Amino acid sequence: DTAMYAAKRAGRGRYQVYTPELDTRARDAELRHAVADGQLVLHFQPSVDLRDGTVVAVEALVRWDHPERGLLLPGAFIDLAEETGAIVPVGEWVLREACRQAVRWRAEVPAAAEIYLNVNLSPLQVKQSGLVEVVTGILDETGFPPGRLVLELTEGIVLEPDEATLDRLNSLCAMGVNIAVDDFGTGHAAINYLRLLPVTVLKVDRSYVTGIDDDPRAYAVAQAVVGLGAAFGMHVVAEGVETTAQADRLIEMGCRYAQGYLYHRPQPGDELTALLRRAGLPVPR
Ligand code: C2E
Ligand code: MG
Ligand code: MG
Ligand code: MG
Repeated sequence: DTAMYAAKRAGRGRYQVYTPELDTRARDAELRHAVADGQLVLHFQPSVDLRDGTVVAVEALVRWDHPERGLLLPGAFIDLAEETGAIVPVGEWVLREACRQAVRWRAEVPAAAEIYLNVNLSPLQVKQSGLVEVVTGILDETGFPPGRLVLELTEGIVLEPDEATLDRLNSLCAMGVNIAVDDFGTGHAAINYLRLLPVTVLKVDRSYVTGIDDDPRAYAVAQAVVGLGAAFGMHVVAEGVETTAQADRLIEMGCRYAQGYLYHRPQPGDELTALLRRAGLPVPR
């Protein structure tokens, strides 16, 4: 405040008005305001069964419809939100809004009853002591069934899960909520930690998928990761599948599920309703 006051007194151009710290605070305040002001929106990206293209899950992906800067992707604001703690209210909004939308799909589209709803949780959210209460509250309030919810955690959590975090994840699991490890292979998690967590879904990061159609070593690495997930009895989802050649290799190596532009792009919830109406039917690729 003092710096801003000094800058104002000194007049424009004489001092740097925004120090990085002030900039962070201003951007944090702007984001928190955006949540309250209804500027956040969700897009949803399906994942499919590789064998027949049926939609098995839909992942909620947050965007910020910024009044001046247009539609911002999470890359433009999630890191800051994680740093300042704004991710906690953002994440709570995302979970509530995603559940509300999914409950509407379930009312409108019979096949939606079978589809999972995936929601990303940031490391900071998972460290909140009230996480289980927040999730329970939103499920009660919206009427979304816990057994159809998948919470996606990044590998940071897997790296060193403390006792309290493990307790929280086990409580969620006991409620029937499913846990996924997202972007698997991008962090520094020891594979060994995986077996300590109640994880049922393994999302293999896009970087493992990219070269599988033309690089035998990339193929071998992806195959090993897919095999690891299978050995743990997890549902393995390949992320970022963009070509039919990649999809064919994935099927070959025994990967069952995929998410990527080849199948569906993230899109607004209402646009997905029509797709979900056909979701019970195989989608040829
Ligand atoms: P993610 O959870 O791994 O989500 C997948 C990202 O990959 C999405 O980017 C999606 O648009 C993109 N993607 C999907 N298929 C393809 C493909 O075939 N090719 C390529 N190149 N990209 C593809 P998006 O929406 O920009 O989100 C980026 C990340 O931001 C997410 O990665 C997730 O980690 C984070 N994020 C998104 N929404 C939330 C949220 O509500 N809470 C938290 N904590 N993080 C979120
Ligand atoms: Mg995700
Ligand atoms: Mg992911
Ligand atoms: Mg990813």
